[in-house]
Amino acid sequence: MTSALQDLAGRVAVVTGASSGIGRASATLLAARGAKVALLARRQSALDELAAEIRAAGGQALALAVDVTDQAALDLAAATIRKTWGCIDLVFNNAGVMLPGAIGQQDTAEWQQQIDLNISGAMRVIQAFVPQLEEAAAKGGTVDLINTSSIAGQYLFPYFAVYSATKAYVSHLTRHLRIELGPKNIRVSMIEPGIVATELQDHVTFQGAKDWLANAAKSIDFLQPADVAQVVGFIVSQPKHVNLQQVVIMPTKEG
Ligand code: NDP
Repeated sequence: MTSALQDLAGRVAVVTGASSGIGRASATLLAARGAKVALLARRQSALDELAAEIRAAGGQALALAVDVTDQAALDLAAATIRKTWGCIDLVFNNAGVMLPGAIGQQDTAEWQQQIDLNISGAMRVIQAFVPQLEEAAAKGGTVDLINTSSIAGQYLFPYFAVYSATKAYVSHLTRHLRIELGPKNIRVSMIEPGIVATELQDHVTFQGAKDWLANAAKSIDFLQPADVAQVVGFIVSQPKHVNLQQVVIMPTKEG
C-alpha cells in the first residue's frame, strides 16, 4: 500500500507572519498547491502584494492585517475567513520575533516583545482558530495546526536566553496540544529551523549577536524560506493518519 501525498485543493489555510520570510514562502506554496490561504501579519501593503502574486498565479488569497497579540482582531479574522471560505482546517502559527540581548542590560521592552508575540501571540492564534479546526475535524476533514519553533528551543546560545525560552515554550506546548487534539483527529506539528535568511535578523539591536550572525553568514549557507515552506507542504500533505510531530531543519554547515 502506498502513502501518497494528499492534494490541498479544498483546504482553507491561515498563515501568520505571511508578510515576509518563512510565512510568505509557505503561503505561496500552499496556495500553489490548491489551498485557499488567509494571509495574516501587520503590514497590509506587503500582504496585498503577496495576495496579488498568488491570484496572478491562479491561487486564492485573502490579505488580513492583524496583530496577533490582539485577540479581538484575531477573532474577527477567524469569523471573516469562515464567512468567505467556510471552516478553516489548516493553521500555520508562524509569526515571531528574535531580539537577543545581555541579561540585565537589555531594554525590557525587547524581552517583553518576544514574550508577547512568540508566546502570548502564538497562544492567541490557537485560541482563535482551534474551534474551527475542531469543527473541520468533526466533519471528517484533514486538519493541521503547525507551530514554528526553532532549534533555539533545544540548543543553548549565549544572549538568546529569552528568545530560546519562548521557543522552548512553543515546542513543549506543541507536544501537549498534540496529546490533547490528536484524539480529535487534529494533527499538531512543530517545525524547528536552524538559521534561515529572512528579515528576522534585521530587527536585532544587540551588537554581539549582529557580529555572530554576520560571522556565521560567511561560513554557512543559510536556509532559504522556500526550504522551510517545502517542509510545511510535506507535513500537511500526509495521509490523514500520519502526524509529523517535530521536524528539525538545519543548514548543512550549521553545527
Ligand atoms: P520574518 O521577520 O521574515 O517574519 C516574521 C513575520 O512575523 C513577519 O511576517 C511579520 O510581519 C510577522 N509579525 C511580527 N510581529 C507580528 C505581530 N505582532 N502580529 C502579526 N504578525 C507579526 O522572520 P522569519 O520568517 O524568519 O520568522 C518566522 C518564524 O520563524 C518566527 O517564529 C521565527 O522565530 C522562526 N524562526 C526563524 C528562524 C530564522 O533563522 N529566520 C530560525 C528558527 C525559527 P509584520 O511585520 O508585517 O507584522
